[in-house]
Amino acid sequence: TGGRTPLIAGNWKMNLNHQEAVVLVQKLAWTLSDKRHDFAAVEVAIFPPFTDIRSVQTLVDGDKMRITYGAQNVSTEESGAYTGEVSASMLAKLGCSYVIVGHSERREHYGETDQIVAQKAKIALKHDITPIVCVGEGLEIRQAGNHVDHCTGQAEASLAGLTDAEVGKVVIAYEPVWAIGTGETATAQDAQEVCAGIRERLEKVYGAEVAGGVRILYGGSVKPNNVAALMQEADVDGALVGGASLSADDFAAISRYY
Ligand code: PEP
Repeated sequence: TGGRTPLIAGNWKMNLNHQEAVVLVQKLAWTLSDKRHDFAAVEVAIFPPFTDIRSVQTLVDGDKMRITYGAQNVSTEESGAYTGEVSASMLAKLGCSYVIVGHSERREHYGETDQIVAQKAKIALKHDITPIVCVGEGLEIRQAGNHVDHCTGQAEASLAGLTDAEVGKVVIAYEPVWAIGTGETATAQDAQEVCAGIRERLEKVYGAEVAGGVRILYGGSVKPNNVAALMQEADVDGALVGGASLSADDFAAISRYY
């Protein structure tokens, strides 16, 4: 991973009730402490629904664990008459280190464009929250062989308006849409091909130093039995995990792939 600290990120999506969420965090924290997880070697972050973030903050603090956490979405706006939205400053107050922006489910169901994603990334950074900017191709694009171009273009457009220094702080997640929640995983080579392509594009636009520091995650049906192979690839710096992050045992096992 070229000196970059690997990041294992668990996206809970719209799952679990509040009690289940609390139990999951406690079990995860306990399992990782029991196994003496080295958080400096592999960072672990969880992404609960907004309604659980306050509890997660309390549990993580109380445990002196170094599980970090963030939100699954953020408003493009600072504050004001935007009923139902949650702002970056609100997330910062709750101790969020990260926010996922432009997940394919949000692009597909909520019409999020690259431009909106870039605005969300920008406002997150303004509040010292690291955006995890998601990109990925659908099956048709993959079958036509245009996946690298598609994802590099999406990455560049989703970072529009960020300064070089800001781009140096983001995390990018490559998530092929056909591999999300389907049990279908890209091979480690498939993941590497696109992650390397994204890094190359970053290098062209922002220079080698910025490109070399950006963490690029793979996401799409990551499980305890396939994470190690993915993590061996030079440009894969971590995993964004959906389904398997709802099990403390599986997510702890993924976090301890090494
Ligand atoms: C995701 O939604 O980010 C994801 C990768 O989901 P899953 O692991 O369930 O495929």
